[in-house]
Amino acid sequence: MKIIRRKADLRELTETWRRAGESIGVVPTMGALHAGHLSLVDAAREGTDRVIVTLFVNPRQFNSPQDLENYPRTEESDAAKLMPYGIDVLYIPEPEEIYPEGFATTISITGLTEGLCGATRPGHFDGVATVVAKLLLQTDADRAYFGEKDYQQLQVVRRLATDLDLKTRIIGCPTIREEDGLAMSSRNLRLDAAARDTAPAIRRVLTDTAHAIECGIAVPAALAAAREALAAAGMGEIDYLDLRGDPDLQLMTEANRPARLFIAIWLDGVRLIDNLPVPATQPISTDRPVQPA
Ligand code: AMP
Repeated sequence: MKIIRRKADLRELTETWRRAGESIGVVPTMGALHAGHLSLVDAAREGTDRVIVTLFVNPRQFNSPQDLENYPRTEESDAAKLMPYGIDVLYIPEPEEIYPEGFATTISITGLTEGLCGATRPGHFDGVATVVAKLLLQTDADRAYFGEKDYQQLQVVRRLATDLDLKTRIIGCPTIREEDGLAMSSRNLRLDAAARDTAPAIRRVLTDTAHAIECGIAVPAALAAAREALAAAGMGEIDYLDLRGDPDLQLMTEANRPARLFIAIWLDGVRLIDNLPVPATQPISTDRPVQPA
C-alpha cells in the first residue's frame, strides 16, 4: 500500500494501471476508519483490479467550524487498519491538491439536497459534491463506493455522476452496525458511556416505526409515536424524522411506494444520522396511536 499525497504522483500510477488495462475503484473517506468504511474497501476489492482509498477531511462540507475542529484525525491508525486489506493506494491529498489557490468552483445539486441534511446543514452538499467530483476525477475511478448510512449523500453523488457525465459508476453499500444496532460512525467515538448506552434506541425506534408503517399504521401517527419513544429513551433534539421516497427523497405522508425513514438526532452534543427502508403498503384505518415496543 503506497501513501500518496500529490495528485501528479497519483496520476502517474493510474496511467500505468490504465496502460495495463486494469480497472480502478475508489473509496472516499474522511478517515477515523471503522468496519463500515472497511466494508466499502472489501466491495471495491471485489469489484475492481486496483483500489484507492482517499482520506481527506473536507473543510467545505462542515457548516460549523467547531464540528470541523472536533472531527477525529487518526491518519496513522487508519493506515494501519488498511494494511491487511491489500489496497494499492491510500491517497491523503494535501489541502492545496484539492483547493489550490484561486479555486472558485462549487458544484451545487438542487432538489435532492433541499430536505434532510441539506436543510439542517446549509452548504454541506455543495461541499460534498465538489470534493467528490474532484476525487473521482483525480483517481480516474471506474467505480466509487459509498455507504447507505449516508443515503442522501449517496443519491446526491449518483445525481452528480449522471449530470456531469462522469464515467465513474456509483455503488451503494449497506450500513454496517454495531452489535446493538447503532450505525457505525466516526462520531460515535464522541459519545460518553451513558450516551453510548442510549444510542441504540435510534435503530430500535426506526425498526419499530418501519414495521408499524408496513403494517398499515398511518405515517403521521407512526412518526409521532417514534418521537415519543425517542424522547422516552433519553435521546435529545430531533433535526428531522421523515418518511421519504426512494430514490427521489420527496417527503411522503403515505407509504404508497418504496420509501425510507430518515433521522438526524442529537445525543450528548453529537449529531447522529440513520435510515431504514420501508416497503410500500396499503394503509389501514386506525384511531389508536401506535406504541413502538
Ligand atoms: P465518512 O468518512 O464518514 O465521510 O464516510 C466515508 C464513507 O463511508 C461514506 O460513503 C459513508 O457513507 C461510508 N460509511 C460511513 N459509515 C458507514 C457505515 N456504518 N456503514 C457503511 N458505510 C459507512
